[in-house]
Amino acid sequence: MLISTDFLQLWQEFLLYVEEKCSASEYQNWICPIKAKEQKDDQLVLEVPNIFVKEYFLTNYHKELLQFFTSHHGQKPHLAFVIVEEPLLSSVTTPQENSVAPILEKEEEIRLNLSYSFDNFIEGSSNQFARSAALGVAMHPGRSYNPLFIHGGVGLGKTHLLHAIAHFAKKEHKKLKLACITTEEFINDIIEHLKSKSMDKLKKFYRSLDMLLVDDIQFLQNRLNFEEELCNTFETLINEGKQIVITSDKPPSQLKLSERLIARMEWGLVAHMGIPELETRVAILQYKAQQKGLDIPQKIAFYIAEHIYNNVRQLEGAVNKLSAHSRLLNLEITEELVERALREMFQMPYQARISVEQILKSVAAVFDVRISDLKGAVRTKEIALPRQVAMYLACKLINDSLQMLGASFGKTHSTLLHARKNIEQKIQSDDTLRRRVDMVERNIAASAA
Ligand code: ADP
Ligand code: MG
Repeated sequence: MLISTDFLQLWQEFLLYVEEKCSASEYQNWICPIKAKEQKDDQLVLEVPNIFVKEYFLTNYHKELLQFFTSHHGQKPHLAFVIVEEPLLSSVTTPQENSVAPILEKEEEIRLNLSYSFDNFIEGSSNQFARSAALGVAMHPGRSYNPLFIHGGVGLGKTHLLHAIAHFAKKEHKKLKLACITTEEFINDIIEHLKSKSMDKLKKFYRSLDMLLVDDIQFLQNRLNFEEELCNTFETLINEGKQIVITSDKPPSQLKLSERLIARMEWGLVAHMGIPELETRVAILQYKAQQKGLDIPQKIAFYIAEHIYNNVRQLEGAVNKLSAHSRLLNLEITEELVERALREMFQMPYQARISVEQILKSVAAVFDVRISDLKGAVRTKEIALPRQVAMYLACKLINDSLQMLGASFGKTHSTLLHARKNIEQKIQSDDTLRRRVDMVERNIAASAA
């Protein structure tokens, strides 16, 4: 029969064992704050100051603890954690506290890209809505849309707009206390302050802001323990009428984050940035070329913009490359030079190469159904799902209007939209389905190449 102090005693031995294995600062910061509180049957109750310490322990030492207990005791404990928050605004400071400056207290200008201003942002129908919302927020922080959530694919100008808000707001509202950070920086800031036991300072800093701009919130996914801190910060700021702007590569509903945080993010205005139309791409290209002192004939600008179509950053890359080529070789910009210099940057013209038929063929092969069934009206699950996958891929890979695509399937454009949304959602959580969809896509790309 085991006596009740066994686990507690063994915990002390385990601490000695861990202390030998890890660095002094790791031990001090992450292990020392954990106290073994009591044993209840086969449960060991540990007291921790916050969930980060708990998470750290579970990630790094859970397995070892189980092994240690099993080999010394023959029995694995079930762990239970009790969070005992340190009192807020504690006056106790550690010697390390002053050595950690929050990233945000560094000079903001260094981290804001000066060229990302509203003046340098070319407007088109794909980004007009997001741009106006951003400008509204910069002019009247906390009074128009709060939070403003901007989402869209890679290289479409989200960070540009975020920094533009910061520049504009700083200029217009001199006393405004503002921070513009990436989600990674936010997480690192928390980790640093946890280590130096100065979380209060960090909390106070964030909560004293008038405007908080957070870039790439998608990186908070799978870092759930940091979510709570960010969510609390958002709530405090919003309740006080302070402005928040968030960017993401997906809309809030598609992020794997808590319902609470998603609800907060959907509270204000959600603005989507799409792929710019051909004319806007040409305007962006010409603007960037002009800034580099490069003269690109209009016909050639169209030619480039037709081939680089889903990423503005790549358009910029094209201008840089072209500029280098034409300067180095002292050549005029002609279609041949463009072909030579930019060939590997040109994207596959999906529109010309990929057809609905090809998509149906690949989907049928991977999902083991008949093409005629996919085209037919059968609604069983075995057929309906691959049919929706085909519609989803058609939307993704073929640069046609929804009406046109719908017609190729004999469906309305709203059926197509519904299918796209359904599959987009399903592949977030269903790994098997995602792999199959990826496989179809690879198949199509291989047959189109
Ligand atoms: P994202 O954050 O969406 O990945 P960025 O904001 O980093 O994209 O934009 C990528 C590059 O494209 C930046 O250099 C940015 O200045 C430029 N860019 C994007 N959209 C526009 C636009 N509408 N007008 C001018 N430049 C743009
Ligand atoms: Mg960005």
